[in-house]
Amino acid sequence: MSEAIDANQQKATVTAHQINISVAQQLANLVKSTLGPYGMDKEMVDAAGKVVMTNDGATILKETNLKHPTATIITEIARTQEENCYDGTTSSVVINGELMKKASLLLDKNIHPTRIAKGFNLANNKAQELLEEIAIEADESILLQVAKTAMTGKSVESDDSVLAQICVEVTNSTTMDNISIVRRPNGKISDSLAIAGILVDREKVHHNMPSSIDGAKIALIDVDITLPEFANTIQVQVQDNEAVKQFIESRKGQLQEIAESITSSGANVVFCMRDIDGFVSEYFAKKGIYAARRVAKSDLEAVSKATGARIVSSIDELSESDLGKSELLEEVMVGDKPIIKLTGNKTSDAVSVLLRAPTQHVVDEVARAFEDAIGVVSVAIEDKKVLAGGGAPYLYLSKELKEYANSVGGREQMAVSAFAEALEIIPSALAENSGLDPLDTLIALRQLHTSGSIGIFGVDVEEGGGKDMREAGVLEPLRVVSQALQSASNVASQLLRIDNIIEMVRGPEIGEDGFNY
Ligand code: ADP
Ligand code: MG
Repeated sequence: MSEAIDANQQKATVTAHQINISVAQQLANLVKSTLGPYGMDKEMVDAAGKVVMTNDGATILKETNLKHPTATIITEIARTQEENCYDGTTSSVVINGELMKKASLLLDKNIHPTRIAKGFNLANNKAQELLEEIAIEADESILLQVAKTAMTGKSVESDDSVLAQICVEVTNSTTMDNISIVRRPNGKISDSLAIAGILVDREKVHHNMPSSIDGAKIALIDVDITLPEFANTIQVQVQDNEAVKQFIESRKGQLQEIAESITSSGANVVFCMRDIDGFVSEYFAKKGIYAARRVAKSDLEAVSKATGARIVSSIDELSESDLGKSELLEEVMVGDKPIIKLTGNKTSDAVSVLLRAPTQHVVDEVARAFEDAIGVVSVAIEDKKVLAGGGAPYLYLSKELKEYANSVGGREQMAVSAFAEALEIIPSALAENSGLDPLDTLIALRQLHTSGSIGIFGVDVEEGGGKDMREAGVLEPLRVVSQALQSASNVASQLLRIDNIIEMVRGPEIGEDGFNY
């Protein structure tokens, strides 16, 4: 009897590991082909036919309908990576899949899963130390290369120097939450620029309004500057001319009151999140006031932060203390459309980037790549440490950990060696995705990483073989690699410690069967 239970437990244990290994590998395979500068995009279609094109590991996992609990745990890796490092999501999931694959070979040799997990932890701790040792100090020229590397493979390459320059400039000058990005199609990527101040993608509502205001006093209003709906649609008997006249007059009177309550605050610029009545626009224009309508909430918030203006929802309560201040408001032409520029703001933290590209689709893609690059560069600035890319650190770690394994006793030694081997998956996938032979590339790279190597040789995706990634300018923050390893390894250990996947079936509601649960 007890033997039968043992056998059953054994079976359940094997099954849980097999499932976890299989799910981890499936997810790794799903994203692996997107890795690196020549990674392929995935076209994802949901049930409603919405298409998402992406080459980003985190996005792929987010958009894929993953219901398995193990898949949820692994998707967490990508989310943590994205949140902390803005990059390296694909790498972390791919490493996790490879660690699970190696673990499965050790399980086949009857090595206990907790031993494997322990070995993986030892290897990861050693790897973290080794990475610190080969880290490179990040100076200004290195930051430019970090920005370029972050944007590689994202269809902005031909103009990556302009964008990298802007990226480093703005990230150096302020914090990430003070950077706003405006996208404008019908231009060249190289026409993109950054300004110290705020750009608002709107224009004046009335052609007679001034195109620039010195000493702007800005009112931010997030409600309609019109009369309530019923007053616009009220039915008037057309036979009664006097009533019509009276109605129009009283309407004008009410609108005039609204307009005056705004101007009496001393505002000479009005940004409204909703609509502005034609009569009010006319009135503003006559008074030399600049006004824009349908200004995005995010823009109102950015202007509020930079100029000190308070966003007001009740027009009659607007007063001078609610107004924000900018030295200059200008409406400037960008391509064939104007844009509003606010400079000399109350606080100098706000920075805006105007991204240009030929079409809306391209400018959206450029914006995604640029936003990621800002995150990556800010990580490099914060930590001041980077590593060579192209799989170089993984090859270095692989070599060093194989040696370290010899100093580890017991079954854990095999797990450390397996961990070391698993890391070669990154250079191998980079080679494969670039149309190179992965095995030949690994052999060439292992030779370059013999004694004395300082972890700088990575995959030469153009010519094949290996090359010095510092010379090639392929650099990424230390944190991207160390976090990718850390979470891949932690989750692998976590999955190995699970010996049963139990489906929790919801029982009856509390009290339904007379019991309290
Ligand atoms: P992830 O989601 O892991 O960041 P990416 O598709 O962005 O995946 O690929 C990142 C990998 O590509 C990193 O290992 C990086 O070093 C490598 N890489 C980027 N540019 C180059 C390059 N020019 N040559 C070789 N490897 C590169
Ligand atoms: Mg990346």
